[in-house]
Amino acid sequence: MSGHLDGHRAGLERRSRFDRSDDVVVMKFGGTSVEDAAAIGRVIGIVRSRNGSQPVVVVSALAGVTDQLQEAGTAAAKGHLGSALATVRGIYVRHEGLADSLVGDSAYGALDRELRGEFRELESLLLDLAAAGRLDPKSQDHLLGFGECFSSRLVKEALCRAGIDAEHVDARTCIVTDARHGQASAVWDVTEQRLQETVSPLLERGQVPVLGGFIASTCDGVPTTLGRGGSDFTAAIVGAALCASRVEIWTDVDGIMTTDPKLCSDARVIRRLSFDEAAELAHCGAKVLHPATLAPAMRQNIPVYVLNSRRPEGQGTEIVGRVKTGNAVIAITAKRKVAAVEIESAQGVNSELLQAVYAVFDRHSCPVDAMTTSLGRISLLVGSTAALPAITAELRGVAEVSWDVRWENHKALVCLVGENIRRQPELASRVFASVSDMDACVVCQDASDRAISFLVEESKVEELVRRLHGIFFPRREPVRDWGGLSSAYCQAG
Ligand code: ASP
Ligand code: MG
Repeated sequence: MSGHLDGHRAGLERRSRFDRSDDVVVMKFGGTSVEDAAAIGRVIGIVRSRNGSQPVVVVSALAGVTDQLQEAGTAAAKGHLGSALATVRGIYVRHEGLADSLVGDSAYGALDRELRGEFRELESLLLDLAAAGRLDPKSQDHLLGFGECFSSRLVKEALCRAGIDAEHVDARTCIVTDARHGQASAVWDVTEQRLQETVSPLLERGQVPVLGGFIASTCDGVPTTLGRGGSDFTAAIVGAALCASRVEIWTDVDGIMTTDPKLCSDARVIRRLSFDEAAELAHCGAKVLHPATLAPAMRQNIPVYVLNSRRPEGQGTEIVGRVKTGNAVIAITAKRKVAAVEIESAQGVNSELLQAVYAVFDRHSCPVDAMTTSLGRISLLVGSTAALPAITAELRGVAEVSWDVRWENHKALVCLVGENIRRQPELASRVFASVSDMDACVVCQDASDRAISFLVEESKVEELVRRLHGIFFPRREPVRDWGGLSSAYCQAG
C-alpha cells in the first residue's frame, strides 16, 4: 500500500515539474507529410514556426512504406524471396535519395551507416521469414516497425541540417507495451516514466526530440506496434506523459469535414468538436481520427488539432473535451455497402433468442451495425453479406425454432450527427419532410442521442447527403466559424 502511495506521490512530483513547462507541443506528421523532400521541407518550416514552444516531433513511415513492408513479408513467407528483397531495396533507395538531398555531407556518412545497418537487419528478417514459411504477428511487428525507424532518423537529420537542434529518440525504448502483437497497449506507468526520463532532459536543453510513431516494445525489449495508423496513438501517449499543452496531427487535408466532399462539394471544415462527437462520427462510418487512439490526450484534457501540412496557415479542426453547441448537426456521414437482414420467427422473439442470434453473428465475425426487434421479427444491419449464408445455416439449428432469414444488399446508412439531435422534434420533422419522396427509412441506430440515421438504396446516397447538407450547412453561412475547403473528407495519413 505504502509502495503504491509512494509511486503516486512520485508521479505527482513528476507531474508538477512538468506543469511548469506548459508549452510542450507534440507534432505528429503522417506518412504523406513526410513522403518526399518537398514534404519534409514543409515539416521543417512548421517545426521552426513553433520556436516559442517546445516541440516534440512524432513521425509515421514515409507514405506507402508500411504497406510495402507488409507485402515484402508476405512474399518472403510464401517463398518469393527475390521479390521481397527487391521491394525492400526500393525502400532503401528512396530513403538514400532523400538523405542525399536533405542531409549535409558531414552527417550523411553517419546516417547512411545507420540506415544500412537497419536495412541489413531487415533483409536478414526476410531470410528468416522465407525459411520459416510464415509471418507470425511477432515477426510482423518487427518487420512493419522498420518504416518508422528509417523515417525518424531521416527527419531528425533533415531538421539538424536546417539548423534545428533535433535529437533522435528510439520510441522502442520509451513506449513499453503488453505483448499483444499487432495491436499492443501501452503499460502506462513505465511508459510515462521512460518518456519523462528520456525526452524531458532534451527539452530542458532546448532540443527537439524526434520519435517514430507506431513502434514500441515489450518490457523484455521485443518489438511491438500499436496497430495500423498507430502514430496518432503515439502522439497522444507522448502528449499525456509530458503534460503537453496540445497535440497536433499534421496530415494532408484541412481537418475533419461536415461531410465527404466527394459526395458534396459544399463540405467544409468543422472548426471544433468534442471527443464524444468525434467518437460518434467514427461510429457512423466517417474516417475521422479514431477517439480510441486519442484516449490518453482525452483523459488529460489535452486539445488535439487536425491540421494540413500542405496548408499550414489553415486553422484545422480542434477536438476538445466539451463544445458549446451552436448548430445541432455537426456532420453528415455515409456508410455504404450495408445489407439489411430480416429474421422472422413464427414462435416470436425473446431475449434468449436475441442473444443466440447475436452470438451466431459474432462467431462469424460479422459485426452488427444496428438491431431492432418486433413481435416476430429481428431486423439487422451488417457491413458485409459474405458470412450470411453460413449464418443462415447455423441459425436453423438454434433453439429448435424455425427461422426465415432474408437480406437486401446495396443499401447505405446516412447519419446526421450532433449533440442531442434526437431530442429536437422540430429538427426531425424538417428532415423527414425534406426526404419524404426518397424512400429513406429511419433507423434507430444506437442508444445515443447524437445520431439520426436513414437507410437508403446506395444509388441515392449522393442525393440524400446533398439535400441534408443543404439544410444544415447552407452555402456561405458559417457554422462554428469554419476554416475553409479541403480536398478530402478527413485525415488520411
Ligand atoms: N506507418 C503506420 C501505418 O501505416 C503507422 C501510421 O502511419 O500511423 O499504419
Ligand atoms: Mg494515420
